[in-house]
Amino acid sequence: MNKSTLENINILNNLIHQELKPYVKKIDVEAFYAENFLKKLGEAGLFSSANKSQKEVLADEMNLVEEVAKTCMTTAFCLWCHLAALTYVRNTRNEVLKQTFLPQLENGDLLAGTGLSNPMKYYAGLETLHLTAKSADNGYYLSGVLPAVSNLGENHWFGVIANVDDQRRVMCFVPCQIEGLKMKAKVEYLGVNGSATYACQFTNVFIPNEWVLSKNADEFVEIIRPAFVLYQIPLGLGVTKESIASIDTVSGRQNGCNRFLKKQSIDFEDAIQAVQGKIENLLIAYPVNWKEIAQIRLEVAYLTLEAVQANMLHNGSAGYLKDCVSSRRLREAYFFANLTPTIKHLEKIVDCCI
Ligand SMILES: Cc1cc2nc3c(=O)[nH]c(=O)nc-3n(C[C@H](O)[C@H](O)[C@H](O)COP(=O)(O)OP(=O)(O)OC[C@H]3O[C@@H](n4cnc5c(N)ncnc54)[C@H](O)[C@@H]3O)c2cc1C
Repeated sequence: MNKSTLENINILNNLIHQELKPYVKKIDVEAFYAENFLKKLGEAGLFSSANKSQKEVLADEMNLVEEVAKTCMTTAFCLWCHLAALTYVRNTRNEVLKQTFLPQLENGDLLAGTGLSNPMKYYAGLETLHLTAKSADNGYYLSGVLPAVSNLGENHWFGVIANVDDQRRVMCFVPCQIEGLKMKAKVEYLGVNGSATYACQFTNVFIPNEWVLSKNADEFVEIIRPAFVLYQIPLGLGVTKESIASIDTVSGRQNGCNRFLKKQSIDFEDAIQAVQGKIENLLIAYPVNWKEIAQIRLEVAYLTLEAVQANMLHNGSAGYLKDCVSSRRLREAYFFANLTPTIKHLEKIVDCCI
């Protein structure tokens, strides 16, 4: 491990300890959005891609998501939203857009999200596109509704895809403060309410060409999709590893009666090691087979559900308290299972080669 990697680990641990841990209950119970923490990750240089290969960026940022998810999956999900948006800007061929936004997104001045669930479902044949784009002289007018976009706020931006016509779709970068965009906060979910999630209604929102990520979204999605899904995998790994730690912590209770439970931490440790081996192989071969990424994402979604459930059984009634860590992880894990690509969507990809 080199010096700068070690320094970054220390910086991250300190930030998690000082800027995230004290707020976790508030994030879960009061829908508090840990914006400050996310900005500080950027300020500390942890989103920087300077002097790194694509593989190094992916590996470092996947590790970042996992470390944050161990403490709070809701905030790690917000971080994923930002990294997804960063991926769009890093890969755009619109140099004006890249030069304007990439430095701010990487230094934490600007936070961003992604409205790509519906397009991902569209490309997998699950849904029609919710947004339409009308061509204009210097850009496009967007209309339609996205039911849920997270990691948004006053000065945030987010990526969307809209249908131009039967032949073409366009991908745009949209500021939250723009004429014609109505945002309604959504905080009635079972969990992850601290994810700054909004329903976004577009009525003739004008997007100039300078904010167009790609005029050929069908092609662009192929480029950004591997990172989009890879960055989700550590959400589940972080939650699973903390579930293992929690199972171990309570192993001595009631004269060690938990050892009679069918699922033990060793089962999950073995599964985690197997998944991590697959991820390492994937990154060695990057850019990678899309279906292999989907397969691992699917495995991790099931593994996470099993781990949080086992953790509930090992913790007994202490884990059944409304706002305790075990029950929070259970609620967060169900979101992970229903985050696009959801388990049903992934099963379709793996089954049908799409
Ligand atoms: C807390 C939370 C945060 C999310 N954040 C994001 C995000 O940042 N970006 C993003 O793109 N997606 C986001 N989503 C969507 C998510 O990724 C999944 O797509 C969704 O959770 C479930 O997908 P599903 O395939 O089961 O469809 P379902 O939710 O079962 O939806 C089926 C259909 O109904 C539509 N629909 C669902 N809810 C509503 C509603 N309230 N009003 C109108 N239509 C609706 C869907 O678009 C779809 O066409 C979020 C969802 C949740 C619960």
